[in-house]
Amino acid sequence: MESVKRKSLLYKSGVEYADFCINHVEGCSHGCTFPCYAFNMAKRFGRVKTYHDWLKPKIVENAIEILDKEIPKYKDEIKFVHLCFMTDPFMCGYKEVEHLTLRIIARLNKDNIKCTVLTKGIYPKVLKNIEKFGANNEYGITLVSLDNNYKKKWEPYSAPYEKRIAALKYLHDQGLKTWVSVEPYPPESIQKQNLLEILNKISFVDTIIFGKLNYNVESSMFRNGNEEFYEKCATQVIEFCKKNSINCHIKFGTMKEKIPENTILFDGAPKIPAAVE
Ligand code: SF4
Repeated sequence: MESVKRKSLLYKSGVEYADFCINHVEGCSHGCTFPCYAFNMAKRFGRVKTYHDWLKPKIVENAIEILDKEIPKYKDEIKFVHLCFMTDPFMCGYKEVEHLTLRIIARLNKDNIKCTVLTKGIYPKVLKNIEKFGANNEYGITLVSLDNNYKKKWEPYSAPYEKRIAALKYLHDQGLKTWVSVEPYPPESIQKQNLLEILNKISFVDTIIFGKLNYNVESSMFRNGNEEFYEKCATQVIEFCKKNSINCHIKFGTMKEKIPENTILFDGAPKIPAAVE
């Protein structure tokens, strides 16, 4: 597997529910086509030329070395570190990525820095070892459909939905905190499906984040219809979460009005306005 060297790794994320973030891989073999924001940015800044290049990830070979320097520098500022917004930490078929991700989580946890993790891959069972990885991390998956035809078209090389959910459930059963990002949720013009069916599959998690599809041309063509659609879906998510005592956040811009309530999504996270009581 190819690798790159970087000068820095930890950065303050602009994502509304995040704090610090790490992207220790360049590229992503999951190859989402909605399209992937990270791919677009990598292309714009000349880090990759084509979709095909993007599918061949390169790990940051000096990641741990950089962390050893950056952790003491930012430690007092960091509430938690998110892996990853611009790549996937448990990319299917790349054991090197998994190995480096586990080393990074262990390194951060060693300094009592909690991690929130998000993947379309499969979590390794070894994360249950709380002596090595700590007990406070929050492990999440992205899940926007249960239909394999949807997966084939929009996230062709990610892990199968059922396996993704099963790996998350395993961590939940070990007493670890879990969450799901139901984002970017497709409008009906792209995928007709039953949202409740998806929610029922993940009713065991601690937190659900729901957000609309932003970057798709096909979606914006149906904008008016979509506003109402997303309003309905978000309301359904809120009600489902209330009923199942799940912490819930509706991403900004998904509903017309924000409910002026505050919630803490991840322990240590800044308070954010959330669409949930
Ligand atoms: S998993 Fe994330 S980073 Fe990877 S291609 Fe899909 S959207 Fe992009």
